[in-house]
Amino acid sequence: MTIDNYNFAGKKAIVRVDFNVPLDENGNITDDTRIRGALPTLKKILNDGGALIIMSHMGKPKGKVNPKFSLSQIQGAVSDALGVEVKFAPDCAKAADAAAALKSGEVLMLENLRFYPEEEGKPVGIDKEDPAYDAAKKEMKDRQKEFAKTLAGYADCYVNDAFGTAHRKHASTAVIADSFDADNKMLGYLMEKEVNAVDNILSNIKRPFTAIMGGSKVSTKIGIIENLMDKVDNLILCGGMTYTFAKAQGGKIGMSICENDKLDLALDIMKKAQEKGVNLVLGTDCVAGDKFSNDANTQVVSAMDIPEGWEGMDAGPETRKLFADAIKGAKTILWNGPAGVFEFDKFTAGSRAIADAIVEATGNGAFSLVGGGDSVACVNKFGVADKVSYVSTGGGALLEAIEGKNLPGIAAIKG
Ligand code: AMP
Repeated sequence: MTIDNYNFAGKKAIVRVDFNVPLDENGNITDDTRIRGALPTLKKILNDGGALIIMSHMGKPKGKVNPKFSLSQIQGAVSDALGVEVKFAPDCAKAADAAAALKSGEVLMLENLRFYPEEEGKPVGIDKEDPAYDAAKKEMKDRQKEFAKTLAGYADCYVNDAFGTAHRKHASTAVIADSFDADNKMLGYLMEKEVNAVDNILSNIKRPFTAIMGGSKVSTKIGIIENLMDKVDNLILCGGMTYTFAKAQGGKIGMSICENDKLDLALDIMKKAQEKGVNLVLGTDCVAGDKFSNDANTQVVSAMDIPEGWEGMDAGPETRKLFADAIKGAKTILWNGPAGVFEFDKFTAGSRAIADAIVEATGNGAFSLVGGGDSVACVNKFGVADKVSYVSTGGGALLEAIEGKNLPGIAAIKG
């Protein structure tokens, strides 16, 4: 079933959203992107004449009630965004009466699902090495099924619009779908958009395809780097991970971040790129700092010859040009991970050069997808989020989707 084809009139819909929004110390929302992202789905249900049960997680309360992570803090903001009063169920597993009382056009939001360990389905307070772990895990999986059935019992249909958690097999993101037949479960609009964006990157590639992978570590990105190697024409590797490559090739990297146990892996990636005819673009120079701070003294040095006591913090001017050249001619672009410590204003130039080149290529007709918390923070910081084709809300979920993995949250609905 698709959300456009479903008539919610007279139905109760339980919708998994990602309202894991950042809050300041007073509980005020500092970025409401995720709430705005879910509005098309929520409004469609209300406009059809349905009743809405909203469920989400917030933060990592680890299966325990913790007021710091209470969704009651955003009840007012969700009401304002929807233009409808939002009722609140302070215990997500004991909301049957409140759900039953809901009338067409009314909205009920459930308390944080992760106040129950059943949501994630991982046994708590027991070590993986413990001989009793397997039994505890099985027991928790059974409890997870029951928890999911309780949530499903509130509604006639289920909508999943939480892409950020689609790679997790949680009660509300996947297990709950077993309680609904194929005609009564569907992806929300945000999910559909995310799935289409990934599809554009994976199956509708216009060449040249340039992928830019950055961030601090190669180890966390290896799955996607290997997968992309079969698809891309240009692969730019940037950010902290590149010093592992420099060291592996015999370079001097001073006190730059480096994964010493991944030197062979770096050489292997370089070899594979060569074998597959992928143009691997690594930086030639970098902006080095004498401490990990925005107050650091800086100098531009060769990426292979960073002086003792200095660390590579951003891409140098020659590298920025190399990166921009590989991006500007592209027709398909994927960016995940910054090119430097962009949180410090002194070290934003590399990420900014990438963002600018992506904007230019997009203006010339390329499809550009930017995903992952830090790259999204970059395009927001540089004010260019609306000048790229698609900004994904997913971090881990996006990477796993692009790695070609079947996401449990999507598979539970689409099979
Ligand atoms: P990740 O979580 O692996 O995607 O990496 C994102 C983080 O990498 C950001 O917080 C950046 O500050 C950091 N980063 C990027 N370049 C460097 C660098 N040269 N040295 C240290 N950290 C970096």
